[in-house]
Amino acid sequence: MKEKLKAIVDEALDKIKASQELESLYDIRVQFLGKKGALTEILKSMKDVAPEDRPAVGQLVNEARTTLEGKLEEMKELFEKKLREEQIRKETIDVTLPAKKTIVGHRHPNSIALEEVERIFVGMGYEVVEGPEIEYDYYNFEALNIPANHPAKDEQDTFYINENIVLRTQTSPVQVRVMEQGKLPIRMIAPGRVFRSDEVDATHSPSFHQIEGLVIDKNITFADLKGTLAEFAKQLFGEDAKVKFRPHHFPFTEPSAEVDVTCFKCGGEGCRFCKGTGWIEILGCGMVHPNVLRMSGIDPEEYTGFAFGVGLERIALLKYEIDDMRLLYENDVRFLKQF
Ligand SMILES: [Zn+2]
Repeated sequence: MKEKLKAIVDEALDKIKASQELESLYDIRVQFLGKKGALTEILKSMKDVAPEDRPAVGQLVNEARTTLEGKLEEMKELFEKKLREEQIRKETIDVTLPAKKTIVGHRHPNSIALEEVERIFVGMGYEVVEGPEIEYDYYNFEALNIPANHPAKDEQDTFYINENIVLRTQTSPVQVRVMEQGKLPIRMIAPGRVFRSDEVDATHSPSFHQIEGLVIDKNITFADLKGTLAEFAKQLFGEDAKVKFRPHHFPFTEPSAEVDVTCFKCGGEGCRFCKGTGWIEILGCGMVHPNVLRMSGIDPEEYTGFAFGVGLERIALLKYEIDDMRLLYENDVRFLKQF
């Protein structure tokens, strides 16, 4: 009996030693310790053992079981450890692998320029106001002191929806709508899309953007206008930017002026960018015409004001040194991603 037991234990130990994986350990356990296993068979044959020897044999069988179970557990832990290590090795992140790039877009140069202009004027206490792109003839022309026979009203310049409704040619009608409300003083800019029946070329488009400003209060003079636009130019083009006012004519302002800023490329010495003049035209402006104030119910004897208008595309073209306005509308990402 003793020899038989030893043979069983030795065989089991050999098999455990030779096993290569967790599953074979399971098979070994069944083969030797299971219900029909070799060790269990020995216990079953105890009835053939003399009663006085039974405790000793039982102890031997128990020892054999303990030995085998201990060895099986030891191997099992070894295999599990190996598996874990393998898994960790597989899941290790290779930090030298090239990263997946997320391509982040950005705003259009027009939007960047608009936000820049808005930031400057909001900083000076202006309100940003928007209005309809499809506008009554009255707001677009009449209320701005543009008479019926004015060349701007020519069908060659304006898109007419019908006799009384147009695609706005400027954002000034937004100013009229604000003035009509009668809440004074006014300090506002009106940015937005405007339309003119122009042919597309490097400097023209049937649809473009304007930012118009309006200030109405008591005792507003041309000096306020000059100071405001000088500050605007400095913030937009740098501390050294100077402005120059040239007399001009607009129906809605009197007196009116066109404003040039010193060329930010050459600092005023003259270069290809400013066509050798040292100056670059940026906007039109003037003191609000008394007729315009009167038509919106504001007393020109009590209140005065100034207005200005700047082309957003003009700012973007200058700021980013773009030489063709069409590039701003073609939405070619190879162009746009430069800004
Ligand atoms: Zn220049």
